[in-house]
Amino acid sequence: MTPTKSTETHCPYCSLQCGMRLESTRKGVRELSVAVWPEFPTNAGGLCRKGWTAPALLRHRERLTSPLVRDRATGELTAVSWDEALERVAAGLVKIQQRHGRDSVGVFGGGGLTNEKAYALGKFARVALRTSAIDYNGRWCMSSAATAGQRAFGLDRGLPFPLADIEDASVVVLVGSNLAETAPPAARHLEALRANGGRLVVIDPRATATAVRADMHIQPVPGTDLALANGVLHAIVSAGQVDQDYVDARTSGFDQVAALVAGYWPERVERITGVSAREIVGLAQLLAQADSVIILTARGAEQHASGTDTVLAWINVALALGQPGRPHAGYGCITGQGNGQGGREHGQKADQLPGYRKIDDPAARAHVAQVWGIEPDDLPGPGKSAYEMLDAMGTDDGVRALLVFGSNIVVSAPNASHIGERLDALDLLVVADFVMSETAARADVVLPVTQWAEETGTMTNLEGRVILRRQALTPPDGVRSDLEVISGLAQRLGVPTGFDTEPEVVFDELRRASAGGPADYSGIDYGRITRELGVFWPCPDTGNEAAHPGTPRLFLDRFATPDGRARFHPVDHVGAAEQPSPDYPFYLTTGRVLAQYQSGAQTRRVRELDAAAPGPFVELHPMVADLLGVVDGEQVRVATRRGQMVAPAKISTRIRRDTVFLPFHWVGANLLTNDALDPSSRMPEFKACAASLERVGGAV
Ligand code: SF4
Repeated sequence: MTPTKSTETHCPYCSLQCGMRLESTRKGVRELSVAVWPEFPTNAGGLCRKGWTAPALLRHRERLTSPLVRDRATGELTAVSWDEALERVAAGLVKIQQRHGRDSVGVFGGGGLTNEKAYALGKFARVALRTSAIDYNGRWCMSSAATAGQRAFGLDRGLPFPLADIEDASVVVLVGSNLAETAPPAARHLEALRANGGRLVVIDPRATATAVRADMHIQPVPGTDLALANGVLHAIVSAGQVDQDYVDARTSGFDQVAALVAGYWPERVERITGVSAREIVGLAQLLAQADSVIILTARGAEQHASGTDTVLAWINVALALGQPGRPHAGYGCITGQGNGQGGREHGQKADQLPGYRKIDDPAARAHVAQVWGIEPDDLPGPGKSAYEMLDAMGTDDGVRALLVFGSNIVVSAPNASHIGERLDALDLLVVADFVMSETAARADVVLPVTQWAEETGTMTNLEGRVILRRQALTPPDGVRSDLEVISGLAQRLGVPTGFDTEPEVVFDELRRASAGGPADYSGIDYGRITRELGVFWPCPDTGNEAAHPGTPRLFLDRFATPDGRARFHPVDHVGAAEQPSPDYPFYLTTGRVLAQYQSGAQTRRVRELDAAAPGPFVELHPMVADLLGVVDGEQVRVATRRGQMVAPAKISTRIRRDTVFLPFHWVGANLLTNDALDPSSRMPEFKACAASLERVGGAV
């Protein structure tokens, strides 16, 4: 049947933000289907099964269509009007702030929110609530790479080049990334790389779907990627293969790093990482002899208490080889969440203002205050990071009320049972969502909001490409957009203007607020995004007809540091904060599976995805299974110092003998994970903690 309407838009899930056409053949949502949009460059028509099935969410039977307020007498959530719900929230916030001060109200955002929403949320917190307590779940995703990028290059943009550049590199190294499962359409670039004669190296404790396609798979002990990087750099320095001309011309700090990695000789690194000295030297040789090298990190390397230092160690390798700022070469981070990049640029992070400005920078405060029509002194200072804000909920030092937008923290926070207890200690929990997530189910007030295809807004994908997700259909009766919720609350809090509900108007304000900042969007508008299929930031407004072209490739002439040089950083291995012990003899690591996304609040509700990945499992090595007397499919209890869960065993030679793996899309895995934080990025250590295993039996 010929479609009556076709809208070019983007997938609601990961940072690839694959372009797709959403088509309807008749009026009504049941006829909605996904078609390819081959012209959109990042995915060139490719979609994974999450993208193909995304319309299933749009009229899901569990869709929330009425505000809900918890009845004080019965404890049940009861449907009320929007006026009543917003009045109750506003009155509660005012009362709590009067009693406990402005910082007693917190806002928790999400890396899936559009740029417009992230911007409006940051402004709402600082202008309407005047609280410093705002952060978002992206803190748990890319913050270590972001911090390292700022330190080394003076700027954080996940990929400083288009994704397709990896096809023309000589060697691509993926550190802690399972691209073939987390973002399958991106894997075509890896195939093209190899077809062009390039080599792929994967560093991962598991032989993932990505690792098995690699030319070299290195399988280190969880939490030892930093030592591995230092060992590789040691071998490069020892062999006299440092690109000294580049180091002299474009970097600073190499000598201290060279002195430090002198202590990381291959045999010592073998003892730390479990990777043989031969492999370490082999990797160093492969990299040193390549014309162009791209090193990409993802959560496997970054979600550690030493995540920032780990990324810096790999950046040191890239710099010593003279790669960053050259064509088809350099370092990049593979962002996770759909708007993980844009979400950290426009003000929903505790220490930031729009345009990736720092909230403690007087010039930044003056600029943003002027756009917002307030005095700089009225802007709060930096607040607590995401986990620290949640950890302090309900205490004298913490928030008493929390507004949650686009996040399911009950499932996604580390040490989740503790976070559940802290949520219960709040005086007021308000959750805006479109389904009854595990977090919404605990709220005092639930606000039903629009989702991806029901609203327009910009996202910034993993390449730094600002794209437009267009509205394709009318939202169901009873729901409002997050922008309308924010505006409605601001009005009731006595700030009647300044919170527009039209995404394009909000984006125009965001452009002004970002102008002159590191993430300058002032030269980008909806029309340009449409015509050019996305625009890369920074893209300043030139003020004349010769528009800035945007910046697909960063650092070609200089880095974004004051002197234009990239910085080496000497970083030492410390390992996972919690090491195996007689009581907890294994490493536990967590991650994603192809058919599910993040906390699963969306994908667990899509029938095809649920059928493909219906629940958690414990991946363990056959030798461990023998030791426990467990057969495939039998129930196994995994326990850590924080909690335990039971799931069926998945016995596989893909994993190290000292390590077990749990996917985190269901309640359970994060009851076990460690909340040790990186001292700089405040990233929790999701990827390594000590665990015990026990056969429970049954259910094969
Ligand atoms: Fe593309 Fe990611 Fe959506 Fe899959 S989930 S279709 S890889 S954006």
